[in-house]
Parts: sequence; structure tokens; C-alpha cells
Amino acid sequence: MNVREFGTTGREIPVIGQGTWGMEVDDRSSVIRALRRGLDLGLVHIDTAEMYGSGAVERIVGEAVAGRRGEVFLVSKVLPQNATYQGTLRACEASLSRLGTDYLDLYLLHWVGDHPLAETLRAFERLAADGKIRCYGVSNFDAEELEEAFSLTGAGRIACNQVLYHLRQRGIEHEVIPSCERHGMAVVGYSPFGSGRFPSPSSAGGKVLQEIAGVQGATPRQVALAFLIRREPLFAIPKAARVEHVEDNAAAASLTLSDEDIRRLEQAFPRGGRPRTLPTL
Ligand code: NAP
Repeated sequence: MNVREFGTTGREIPVIGQGTWGMEVDDRSSVIRALRRGLDLGLVHIDTAEMYGSGAVERIVGEAVAGRRGEVFLVSKVLPQNATYQGTLRACEASLSRLGTDYLDLYLLHWVGDHPLAETLRAFERLAADGKIRCYGVSNFDAEELEEAFSLTGAGRIACNQVLYHLRQRGIEHEVIPSCERHGMAVVGYSPFGSGRFPSPSSAGGKVLQEIAGVQGATPRQVALAFLIRREPLFAIPKAARVEHVEDNAAAASLTLSDEDIRRLEQAFPRGGRPRTLPTL
């Protein structure tokens, strides 16, 4: 599994991970099998959140990683409405308990809310000092919000920004990725398959994906993932509740697209103009 340095954390993390949003409605034993198969294949970055299934998904993830905690780069997120200083400490304890672990590798603020960011970040620092989290980051932050966060923490503290990124939504390429690069942060792209709305094989873009996949001996989704992780500091976290999907996604890490493949994909799925607001789901 290809790895890449995760921001300035000093840790090398696989370029492809595993999302878990919505897994509470999937068949529980299949999901656990899929997550464990992912671990076998090196997809050790598991992304979850207190929001997912109102805690139910963290319990599923806890079951999947039981006995294998040391292998996993385990990520969870605090909801903005809980993200006061005390609320963040409490939310983290509750996530740890549901996940059956005593630390998170990474803890994120799910999106910007009404509570002062300084309070959330102070709680993250406290959790890190107490060994409850190894590092922290943000999610759904636009370039301006990133600047505010950096003005509060100083350099090298915020590990990543987790943001929407797929072939038909490349808005973060305008400002967010350059800002993260300037600050030495990882960019974790969520919903890499458009949250289940992957380009159909009969669409113009879908045909290009199929042609490249045919030449590369890959699948269209592998081509899409390879594009989304084509350079530093990009990571992707597809969600897959089925073993065959996990296996398909894992193999994308070793697919290298040619410059011509990338040019064709950029043309088939144009970046578009700079978005007025950060694209989110
Ligand atoms: P996604 O990963 O874009 O798409 C998931 C869908 O694609 C599922 O229906 C899945 O099917 C299917 N799929 C996965 N691999 C496949 C394959 N190889 N072939 C065919 N189908 C495949 O959707 P997402 O869940 O929205 O995003 C991924 C993760 O990002 C989330 O789970 C979550 O962890 C994170 N996320 C974060 C935020 C945030 O605000 N920070 C927002 C949204 C998502 P099966 O499940 O049936 O296998």
C-alpha cells in the first residue's frame, strides 16, 4: 500500500483509507468483514464520526478493529454543536468508549459551527497533552477559516483538512489545496465516488474513465481514485460496505496514471470556476 507523509505529523499514512458514513444501515457482519479486509490490504486509515448513526457507526468500527487497534490510524470527529471546550472533551471520551479504545490517531472538528474555534482547538490541545488523541485537524474549512485556525494554533499543529473532493467536484483545487500545502497540511478528500453518484458508463466522462481503465487494466473507480490521490498532499477515504468493493479500492493505490491520462480526466471533468463557498455534501 502506498503511503505518504500526513501533514507535519511525521507519520506515513496510506493514500487510500476507509470511510464509514451510513454503515449503520448496511449489514453489520458484512461491514465488519469489509473493514477487516481493508485492514488486511493496508487500508488502515478508518474515518468515522460521532454523528454517523448517532454513535452506532463508532460501535461498529470498534468491533471491526478489536484486537487490531495498533494497526489502525483511527479518526473521529466532534460535531460543531458539541465543540465547546468541555463539550469537546466529553465528546472525545464518548467516542473513545464507543470505539473501545483509549486514544484516537486523529480528531477532527466536523465543520465550523457557532462555538468559538479557539475553544475547540484548546480542547484538542488538552486531549493531545493527555494522550487521548495523537493529533488533530479540521473538516470542511475554506481557505479563510484555515487562516483563522492557523492564527490560533501557530504552525505545524493542524494535521489535515477533510473536504469534499471527487471528479465532478474539484472546487478545492482553487484555494483550499494551495492553502493546505502552504501550511504543510494533508488534504483528505471525502466522498471520492460522489457519495454513490459515480459517473455512469454512458456519460461522456464515464466513457473516458472506461477507456483509461481498459488501457490500464483497472476499473473506472480505481482510475478515479488514482486521479484523486495523484500527488501530495492528497488522500482519499472511499466508503465500501462490501469486501469486493474494498478490494477494488485498495488496488487503486498501486495504479499510476500517465500525464496523458490525467490531462484527459481534467478535460472530461473540468475543474470549473472558483466556488463562492466551499463545496460540501
Ligand atoms: P463515497 O465513498 O463517495 O461512495 C460510497 C458508495 O460507493 C457506496 O455506495 C459504496 O457501496 C460505493 N462503492 C465503494 N467502492 C466501490 C467500488 N469499488 N465499486 C462500486 N461501488 C463502490 O461516499 P461517502 O460515504 O459519502 O464518502 C466517503 C467517506 O467520507 C464517508 O463514508 C465518510 O467517512 C467521509 N465523509 C466525510 C464528510 C465530512 O463532512 N467530513 C462528509 C461525507 C463523507 P457499498 O457501501 O455498498 O460497498
